[in-house]
Amino acid sequence: MSKLVILGAAESGIGAAVLGKKMGYDVFVSDYGKIKDSYRQVLDSRGLCYEQGGHSEDRILDADIIVKSPGIRNDAPIVAKAVAKGIPIQSEIEFASKYASAKYICITGSNGKTTTTELTYKILRDAGYNVGLGGNIGKSFALQVAEDSFDYYVLELSSFQLDNMYDFRADVAVLMNITPDHLDRYDYKMENYADSKFRITQNQKPGDAFIYYAEDPVTIEQMAKRTFSQKLLPFSLDAKPASGAHYFQGGNLVVSCQGADTEVSAKDFKLMGRHNRCNIMAATLAAMQVGIPLDKIKQSIDSFMPLEHRVEPCGVVDGVSWINDSKGTNVDSVWYALDTVGDGVVLILGGVDKGNDYSQLYQLVKKKVKAIVAMGVDNAPIHKAFDDMIKVVDVRSMAECIQVCRSLAVPGDTVLLSPACASFDLFSCYEDRGDQFRAAVKAMMA
Ligand code: ADP
Repeated sequence: MSKLVILGAAESGIGAAVLGKKMGYDVFVSDYGKIKDSYRQVLDSRGLCYEQGGHSEDRILDADIIVKSPGIRNDAPIVAKAVAKGIPIQSEIEFASKYASAKYICITGSNGKTTTTELTYKILRDAGYNVGLGGNIGKSFALQVAEDSFDYYVLELSSFQLDNMYDFRADVAVLMNITPDHLDRYDYKMENYADSKFRITQNQKPGDAFIYYAEDPVTIEQMAKRTFSQKLLPFSLDAKPASGAHYFQGGNLVVSCQGADTEVSAKDFKLMGRHNRCNIMAATLAAMQVGIPLDKIKQSIDSFMPLEHRVEPCGVVDGVSWINDSKGTNVDSVWYALDTVGDGVVLILGGVDKGNDYSQLYQLVKKKVKAIVAMGVDNAPIHKAFDDMIKVVDVRSMAECIQVCRSLAVPGDTVLLSPACASFDLFSCYEDRGDQFRAAVKAMMA
């Protein structure tokens, strides 16, 4: 019996363990921290062996194959030892795909993954396809492979998942953009991070499609260094690509296919902002690749509502709009959120800084922002970046933050929570941060 060790007992690890058992592996799950009760119940009920609060090195290094959670760094000691011993280490996606027979639409990028994945999934589902949603989102792909039988999967893939993918092939690969994020996991080198993102195209064949943002400088620079045999489908906001999708100034979407342009009215789209135009174009191109006609695609986009925590309007209080973009956890996403809203912005930044370079925001901050509220344990990077330009007020909790924002904003202004940072210093996760913000707004409206 082959020995499968799962490192990390969260969504992906539990799914891989269930699938591994079903496929006849001798499965052992090891988590250095505490396993969540709900996941422990799954392990217990399925009779799976596991440990928590540490790694039993002997047992782990005796594995024939290791499936590693994307949250565990590749330089973690136990991973380094396994690599040194030559044990193959895979992501849950790579492992599970060996036991599935489906077509894959895979979506990666620094920003826009979740929105584009959800939208693409909705379009396929609305069109009646037997489709699963997975990857970095919702129920683990491996668990779906174990328990469901989908013909298509729309998978959101993070760079950490792609890092441990080798033979997997995406029928349709989508790369939204490459801007600085998670560089601490890539030796602070953009090149390494970009290489990881481009793994989404590895193993693609001539009949497959690669959808990318033609105005993203890092993507274009990287493409010049590579060769592609698959179909290339760019999308673009400002300059019309030869064949792909393009947004007209007037607000309509134009899809060019085999030399013919089809214009799609965007009048009823609910997603706002230039970034969402990119997401819409990418999802449209992806859905077309599996044969869904444009009129059907348009209907699905028309009825797709903005997701929580992503430039989510929470309400208007005394003439001030409050917007929750708690998922704006890097500088580029804040740029797009700021670009989407009007002038007179009280901008809430801060949290765990990932080595951010805020200079990309200077122009927009000068134009639109009246004050910055810095909400974090260590606000020094925000002061360093903005003190010379604008008023920066420190707060240490959501309650204090709401109070200060209220005192700074006047009717017609916008309070925008788009922190450019992770949330773990003051909140359990970005959802917790966004939920607290929304709840405070609703309380003011009551
Ligand atoms: P991801 O899953 O990649 O984090 P999301 O769809 O969850 O992407 O969006 C995260 C944040 O990134 C949003 O809050 C929004 O501010 C911003 N964003 C969304 N789509 C894009 C895009 N295409 N380009 C840049 N920023 C984006």
